[in-house]
Amino acid sequence: MEKEYQNGKLRERNARITTINDYMRDRFGCKVVKLALDGGFTCPNRDGSKGTGGCIFCSETGSGDMASRACTAADIKAAMQSQVKLLSDKWKDSAYMAYFQSHTNTYAPVSELREKFEAALSCELFEKGAACENSRCLGLAIATRPDCLSKDVLDYLSELNKRTFLWVELGLQTIHKKSADSINRCYSLDVYDEAVRELTARGIRVVTHLIFGLPRESKEDMLESVRYVTGSIPADGSPQHIFGLKMHLLNVIKGSRLASEMPDYVPFESMDEYVDLVTDALRIIPKGITIHRMTGDCPRKLLIAPEWSYKKRSILNGITARMTALNAYQGDRL
Ligand code: SF4
Repeated sequence: MEKEYQNGKLRERNARITTINDYMRDRFGCKVVKLALDGGFTCPNRDGSKGTGGCIFCSETGSGDMASRACTAADIKAAMQSQVKLLSDKWKDSAYMAYFQSHTNTYAPVSELREKFEAALSCELFEKGAACENSRCLGLAIATRPDCLSKDVLDYLSELNKRTFLWVELGLQTIHKKSADSINRCYSLDVYDEAVRELTARGIRVVTHLIFGLPRESKEDMLESVRYVTGSIPADGSPQHIFGLKMHLLNVIKGSRLASEMPDYVPFESMDEYVDLVTDALRIIPKGITIHRMTGDCPRKLLIAPEWSYKKRSILNGITARMTALNAYQGDRL
């Protein structure tokens, strides 16, 4: 870790990895905290329009187990204010962005998206009298499926992108068809490619989600997904320029299809095996791509396997220690 002064305070910076935290601090001059929201959307992979039952790893909350449920504009504002109240003691002088996390957050008419996203952007985050320069949310992170980006939706996202800080997260999980079929993802890789093209052509930042540890995937399969989405292997002859990458450790979660269909499945033998994989992945990711996540985030009460997965701090420290021991840097094997 390097240490540096920022706003008169000493803080640590992991110079080996381009973390989104460091990117946001550099860009906005302070820590930026995401307020996780369940905006009351559903998912086409659950309601029958693309599939039924959802992806096999997905929990009942639509992969948003930490998000506050908020289905109306008023609920969204109230949820954001109450999260800020809880978080502002821990993160003093921070700024906030709204993170529409659960289910598929562009799977609705544009009028509904507009109502919900505008509510988040216009929310006064602090009680009256406590306003400061960070009293409004500075941007949006919107998680969705690449097959839920109609022309109308893209036009609205493009409009948003011109007036706020925006990124769109695409849940790809794997580039391999056999695994995509086995997790019931219900869209093909070319749909993802097209979504990245459409978003990046509009200047919209794309953050891709991958999951490590899917059943029957080898380490090389996982690294191949990393190479593909980060553009170190050109797709369709041209590199894809995503803004960020989330690497999730597969968690077997209570109530998921994975837990009922493969109750004994354990994604990795040990934390060390996972740490080695993430280290190898980081070394083939271009330095310019921001790293948003390097493990999973599952409430302990819902977790079945791997049983060590809730030790998020140990996993992250393990990755940093491994990178340091190898004197490795993000992208140094490209
Ligand atoms: S697309 Fe997302 S929300 Fe829908 S079932 Fe899959 S993981 Fe869950």
